[in-house]
Amino acid sequence: MRRQAKSRRDDTGAREEDNIFSRFGLESEAMPSALDPRLRQALADRVRYYHDLGIYDFYRRPIQVSGEGSASVARAPSPAISESEGRQTLMEVRTEPSMTDPASGLRLIREDIGDCTRCRLHKQGRKQIVFGVGNPRAELMFIGEAPGADEDEQGEPFVGRAGQLLNNMIKAMGLRREDIYIANIIKCRPPGNRTPERDECETCSPFLMRQIEVIGPKAIVALGAVAAKTLLAINAPMSELRGQWYDFRGTKLAVTYHPAYLLRDPRQKKEAWKDLQMVMKELGLKPLEKSAEQTS
Ligand code: SF4
Repeated sequence: MRRQAKSRRDDTGAREEDNIFSRFGLESEAMPSALDPRLRQALADRVRYYHDLGIYDFYRRPIQVSGEGSASVARAPSPAISESEGRQTLMEVRTEPSMTDPASGLRLIREDIGDCTRCRLHKQGRKQIVFGVGNPRAELMFIGEAPGADEDEQGEPFVGRAGQLLNNMIKAMGLRREDIYIANIIKCRPPGNRTPERDECETCSPFLMRQIEVIGPKAIVALGAVAAKTLLAINAPMSELRGQWYDFRGTKLAVTYHPAYLLRDPRQKKEAWKDLQMVMKELGLKPLEKSAEQTS
């Protein structure tokens, strides 16, 4: 009797997974029935997660099933891109490595990005993709807008004058740059350091979402309006966005000024410090002796 009930539950679960896969065009060859049930379940959960993020289209790579219950994703030189409702596909369906190994997870995401040509920025003068830097197990993530000239040159986010200021802000919080993880909404420099276009943010940000998921920080600080609006999907001025906590998919998110803006208007540093103090309180951090007017 109990076995029958279990079997019914298994059938129902498998049907739900089939429904999820077929809704996103991932049935048949992409999801062979020989997949381990736990992997199938994990994939279904992942597809639901991307759906929640507003991502509906996926790259496909042929999956080779090798041996019993194990699957590997075959390398394809250039993954097919499908179009749906006028939007390019954004993500590849892959399971991240165990969340206990965020460094491997980040490596996998970087591999997936490859020599990315998914948005127009790849042909508008970028020198390299600026992936992100820092501790893969960071409790705190800073997320900016886009790489600038120095970042494009060095392949690391926040390395110019704004980066120096961010380093000072981090130090004032009693942390080191290597304690945290720093990334941007988009990974290629927009020409002339213009503000990223919405479609560029939409195309690139799913990789950032995966980075956040793999790192699993306790708190995120969005630096500037572009980062805040993209992450929160809220169109509001900075004055309204700052000074409060947001729930970003289970992670606390605060908003403060972008360091480049603080360089242009140093009077706002005190306000930024208030935002950082809110974050420090949440993380149980003690400021350095010399702090507030510190970030100069
Ligand atoms: S900005 Fe992002 S999506 Fe666009 S080309 Fe660069 S890595 Fe690819």
